[in-house]
Amino acid sequence: MAARTHIAETKGKIDESVEIFGWVNGRRDHGKIIFIDLRDRSGLVQIVFTPSDKELYNTANSLRSEWVVHIKGKVAKRPENMINNEIETGKVEIQPEALTVLAQAETPPFALDTDGYEIGEENRMKYRYLDLRRERLKNNLIRRHNVVRFFRDYLSERGFIEIETPLLTKSTPEGARDYVVPSRLYPGKFYALPQSPQQYKQLLMVAGFEKYFQIARALRDEDTRGDRQPEHTQLDIEMSFTNPEEVMSLIEGMVASMMKEIYPDKKMTVPWPKISYREAMEKYGTDKPDLRKDKNDPNEIAFAWIVEFPSFELDASTKEIQPVHHMFVQPRSDSISLIDSEPLKMVSTQYDWVCNGYELASGSIRIIDPELQMKVFRLLGMSEEKAKRDFGHILEAFSYGVPPHGGIAPGIDRLLMILQSEPNIREVIAFPKTGDARDPMMSSPSELDKKQLKELHLEIKK
Ligand code: ASP
Repeated sequence: MAARTHIAETKGKIDESVEIFGWVNGRRDHGKIIFIDLRDRSGLVQIVFTPSDKELYNTANSLRSEWVVHIKGKVAKRPENMINNEIETGKVEIQPEALTVLAQAETPPFALDTDGYEIGEENRMKYRYLDLRRERLKNNLIRRHNVVRFFRDYLSERGFIEIETPLLTKSTPEGARDYVVPSRLYPGKFYALPQSPQQYKQLLMVAGFEKYFQIARALRDEDTRGDRQPEHTQLDIEMSFTNPEEVMSLIEGMVASMMKEIYPDKKMTVPWPKISYREAMEKYGTDKPDLRKDKNDPNEIAFAWIVEFPSFELDASTKEIQPVHHMFVQPRSDSISLIDSEPLKMVSTQYDWVCNGYELASGSIRIIDPELQMKVFRLLGMSEEKAKRDFGHILEAFSYGVPPHGGIAPGIDRLLMILQSEPNIREVIAFPKTGDARDPMMSSPSELDKKQLKELHLEIKK
């Protein structure tokens, strides 16, 4: 058997014999001639069946949309008046010699040749594997791969080590509700899924890795909103012996080179402006301002940094004091002394990366002084006992020689959403949950059977 030719490559193989594989994208009958558009990941090509070969013609006649077929044939130049400039292979067509049906297909529940925005979400998610056949979603996922691969290479070339951290862990202090997993071996005990690898990446700095990154899943049980999902992906980064400027310029350099390579048509201002939290609030009324000059221009990307955040704020409803980012954020050195008297006046080392009205990342330098960390825990209403129980491991780790460190965690889904001009992060995630946190394809969440519940020492209260 000859090697497979990807459909997009047929344009360079005029007069050659090829073997192509793919899905029937569509079929048109013109008198006696049957035109099939065959699709693989690389593109579309036209196959022309004439009645000269009876058997072949009859098989072609049975083909329906989305059937999977194998075709052997010759690539021919199309006559001048038949050229189709809409598709990459529009100057050629395939004259088939053999056709094998590899799989038949039911009629899909919705059109696959549109952009799909017109289809109800429930249906799109239930048949996501079909939804993903559409050009737009395919391109979104391929772009996502290219962006992530760019970041991976960029960081690896600069001495960063990619390290995986556990999914079964313990409550993390990102401030959202945890997803929990009951323990079978320890009745009444639970793991928590990580809201981020925050503590692990700090512990990796204690371990001496100096530069870490991970394409990390972060799980937060929050009420879902347009650009929120129960799980999202972060490019999680941590560095030792660093400072805010170094972290910000790493991200800025990495993203600028990525944009140049993968999104050359986007307009982006460099260097990115740095705006203080106070100025952002006074001027724009938000800490994630949309700084685009022309908000109707899909190619304008206005990245910026927001700095000089307060360390703490009062929760709008409970009026309890809480960290603006998380409880490991180092206060600016000139504010540390305010912690006992005026904690709400403290300014932190936090920096947020914002774009077109969205927050893309938060990061900071971290507290490494166990005493200051304990003061923060107490300020947040934790007893010394609870703080030791929940965070004793990190305080203990800091007693064994902790390097000064800091980091950041850009959200991959949001970044791709903006760069692909999508209205929602669900459009750049292969298998997202619906807006109300369900997966209609797998029917998740779902009930457990009695045996599983028993093993997990759980009883469901009706
Ligand atoms: N863990 C933080 C977050 O998920 C990011 C960081 O501080 O590096 O927002």
